Amino acid sequence: MLVRRAIPPDEPVTNRAETDPATVGLLCGKCTRCLDACPTDAFPAPGVVDARRCISYQTIENRGVIPRELRRGIGQRVYGCDVCAEVCPWNRFAQEGRRVLLNLRGEIAELGLGELLALTPDSFARIFRGTAIKRVKLGGLLRNACIVAGNTGNEIHLPRLVELATAPSIPLVRAHAVWAVFRIAGAERAKALLAAASATETDPLVLAEYAAEA
Ligand code: SF4
Ligand code: SF4
Repeated sequence: MLVRRAIPPDEPVTNRAETDPATVGLLCGKCTRCLDACPTDAFPAPGVVDARRCISYQTIENRGVIPRELRRGIGQRVYGCDVCAEVCPWNRFAQEGRRVLLNLRGEIAELGLGELLALTPDSFARIFRGTAIKRVKLGGLLRNACIVAGNTGNEIHLPRLVELATAPSIPLVRAHAVWAVFRIAGAERAKALLAAASATETDPLVLAEYAAEA
């Protein structure tokens, strides 16, 4: 966040030097809750987050393919993740901040997964106008919804996922829809369901997904 004013820092909770890396985790004691709870093992060491493994980065900031090895860990999270903040005992003093995060996701919380998968350019623009979620664009939100659908294993989503795996939908979405169909239907059935889509596919992103399932 860039602002025009100098903002004085809060008083330090302890006397530690903020710039001394050796003091990272000074307030954590023996706690390792965030490291243990992170669904994608994004903490290589206490006080260090590998953003490339973080669900918040992948589902909100990443504009491209979400690495296959992280998709299972995303679980049912369509947009962002607060697990490390939720488990941190210090955050019981930070209720206001948590409410802000929840409010940002209110629009998504009201939609079922089937409704998310059915979003069109028009409905996406109408529902998410003026919200932070618009930043991920329709392709990013459908990409995330495909991963969550694959993780549910719920057959009810298969028809829509096959549609999304078929051109002319967005290539990024097609790639993740293919992954989801394989997760739900299993290899043999997925190949049959996607036979028409794969026969006409030319985009490298999507072809890479088929190749990974071969
Ligand atoms: S936001 Fe979620 S995925 Fe990211 S570091 Fe925290 S627990 Fe891990
Ligand atoms: S959950 Fe909070 S107190 Fe515990 S290790 Fe993580 S940052 Fe430190």
